[in-house]
Amino acid sequence: MRVGVIAIQGDFEKHVKALRACAIDGLEVVEARTPQDLASVERAIIPGGESTTVGLLMQRYGMADALKSAAADGMPIWGTCMGMIMMADAIEGRDQFSLGLLRIQVKRNAFGAQVHSFEDTVEVAGLDEAVLGVFIRAPVISKIQAPAEILATYRGHIVGVRQGNLLGTSFHPELTDDTRLHQFFLKL
Ligand code: GLN
Repeated sequence: MRVGVIAIQGDFEKHVKALRACAIDGLEVVEARTPQDLASVERAIIPGGESTTVGLLMQRYGMADALKSAAADGMPIWGTCMGMIMMADAIEGRDQFSLGLLRIQVKRNAFGAQVHSFEDTVEVAGLDEAVLGVFIRAPVISKIQAPAEILATYRGHIVGVRQGNLLGTSFHPELTDDTRLHQFFLKL
């Protein structure tokens, strides 16, 4: 199995490491920068980073259209933080480009200026024990519509979504040693 981490900007190297740490036989992990790279993988992760920058670059180099058609063909795609913002239908209060893959609206930097970054436990549907959520200028899901379903919550906020083969999380499992969410994604 070949997995591509979209390597335009952001913490893509951390996802590459986390995927390798899953130690799955036959798993190949590559950095994907072009539509050609994406065509060579069966799954993709969009990392954390800066959604305005990545949105512009994705459109310019054809990655936006490539990701949309890959998702339409059923490719499992997971976005963390910026990646989830990119996958959303809409971004609250902004006329900002997104891929429109997940039936959600997100609010960027939702935890406010005073709490740029924090860590706390997050309940994830289907996992027996909570995960440590690392939130960095994190978004929340402010609207969700079927077929998107809540995957994770934190203090009443929706911070994770699943829609078939598509996942989005506000937090960054790639910044912890816990590979359970990466394993979960690889099994979709
Ligand atoms: N605040 C960033 C954005 O809106 C996302 C932050 C992150 O990916 N850690 O693009």
